[in-house]
Amino acid sequence: MTYEIIKELTTTKKDKTPDHQLGFGKRFTDHMFSMDYEEGKGWHNAKITEYKPIELSPAATVLHYGQAVFEGLKAYATEAGEILLFRPDQNFKRLNRSNERLCIPAIDEEFALYALKELLQIDRDWVPTSEGTSLYIRPFIIATEPYLGVSPAKNYKFMIIMSPVGSYYAEGINPIKILVEQHYVRAVAGGTGEAKAGGNYASSLKGSELANAQGYAQTLWLDGKEHQYVEEVGSMNIFFKIAGKVITPALNGSILAGITRDSMINVLKSKNIPVEERKIAFLEIVEAANNGTLEEVFGTGTAAVISPVGYLKWSDGAIDVNNGQIGEVTQMLYDTLTGIQYGKLEDTFGWTIKL
Ligand SMILES: *Cc1c(COP(=O)(O)O)cnc(C)c1O
Repeated sequence: MTYEIIKELTTTKKDKTPDHQLGFGKRFTDHMFSMDYEEGKGWHNAKITEYKPIELSPAATVLHYGQAVFEGLKAYATEAGEILLFRPDQNFKRLNRSNERLCIPAIDEEFALYALKELLQIDRDWVPTSEGTSLYIRPFIIATEPYLGVSPAKNYKFMIIMSPVGSYYAEGINPIKILVEQHYVRAVAGGTGEAKAGGNYASSLKGSELANAQGYAQTLWLDGKEHQYVEEVGSMNIFFKIAGKVITPALNGSILAGITRDSMINVLKSKNIPVEERKIAFLEIVEAANNGTLEEVFGTGTAAVISPVGYLKWSDGAIDVNNGQIGEVTQMLYDTLTGIQYGKLEDTFGWTIKL
């Protein structure tokens, strides 16, 4: 593996959207990183070029059979003008785990991080600085071989694109309403649920659309076999606080191992708040709500950090969580994590790296 990156930079810089008009994932920075894979040759042709469309054969495997994986992380601007990345090594490690599941050749994790830093350095002034904004980073790999046969492709493209994103909570942290999906499932053990594969998202759209149409922000996914056990919420991991203890579904093969999830578990432990990873029946949550011990519910993920849940609806009833207000532990976790990410709190965990 060579650590050389060809740089073909652009001199025509795009206009930047004002921070308060930034949505999510609609604008892209001036440059992108790309690298190719060819059987027998390995990964090569590492380049940073202008952000532009790519050329792809209409027969490219990814377009037909969905051999594609991705990651999502963020760069944060500190008040002192530094740029921080949050646990980026974990993203590239997970990308390789996803690669393994989808029969995509592994990337060099260290080189990928080096390439990301080079790209970030070049587009450094694209990291927005207003409160709550960040630069969303999307590494991904697609199968590019023009071949209609069903087998792992012989050619791939690894790319990193970046998008300035607005404050997720510009209007304050408002707990969301969730619909428990009892028919469609996101993933099953043995499937690709624990890989960050594009196809998982394609198959989750139907459930999300049905939830949205009924006025719910997200879907609560149950297990694919018995439709009884809690898995995830939308594309976030889920946590419940019951009688002072925080519980989250154990990683069982169909749940995505969120880096935010892992970070929250570590923050909880550091604050001596009991936290447990285990199988959680949805009926257990209903029972806790009925006997008054369900205190907080929240989802976790890179995009929102933490998303408090205020209301859960399922076929036989509904649950109000904490009177639709954000809970104490949820707020503490949000403050702690964003404090570390934006360099406002001391990073005792060693999670952030400076550009
Ligand atoms: C990416 C993702 C998450 C959250 O992972 P983070 O590393 O915390 O961003 C949770 N669930 C699904 C299905 C995901 O794709």
